[in-house]
Amino acid sequence: MISNPDLFLEHLTNDYTVGRLYSLGISTPLLRILDNDDLQKIIERDVFFSVMHSPASTSQINVDIPRGSRVIHLDENTIESFVKAEHRVAIVLHEIGHAIVELSVQQRIGSMGSEFAADDFVVSKGFLAELLEALLIGIELMPAKFDTSSNRSRIVRLGKLRMSGK
Ligand SMILES: [Zn+2]
Repeated sequence: MISNPDLFLEHLTNDYTVGRLYSLGISTPLLRILDNDDLQKIIERDVFFSVMHSPASTSQINVDIPRGSRVIHLDENTIESFVKAEHRVAIVLHEIGHAIVELSVQQRIGSMGSEFAADDFVVSKGFLAELLEALLIGIELMPAKFDTSSNRSRIVRLGKLRMSGK
C-alpha cells in the first residue's frame, strides 16, 4: 500500500484525470494495491497517467513531464464499457506493468514477452481472474479492439496460470 498518496497524485496529468480515475472506481483500489516499491518505480521512470476519450480529445497537462516519460493513456469510453471496477483496475494494472516492470533479455526477445510480463505484474497483485475476465468481456463487447491474436495468447496463458493455482 502506498504510504504517500500525494506522490501518486502528482503523476496524474490534470484534474480531469484525477476526477475520472476516482469516478471510474480506479484510483482508490490502485492506491491500496500498489506498494511503495511500485510508487518508487512510477517516480523513477517518470510514469504519468492521462484520461482521454476516443476518437480524439484535447487535454491540458498540469504537471511537469520530462522528455522520455511514459504516459499511460486511458480511454474512458473503452474503460467505461467494463461495468465492474475490478476489471477496469486489472486493465490499468497491466499498463502499469508495461511501464514499470524490468524485462529480462528473454522477455525482450520474445514477441509476447512484454505482454506476458505486464500480465505477470497484474497476477502478482492478485488480479489474475479479473484480468482474464476483462479480456473475455472485451472480446465479447468490442471484438474489433480486443479480439487479437495477442489477447488470445494472453487468455490461454492466464487460463493455464489459473489452473496451476497461481
Ligand atoms: Zn499490453
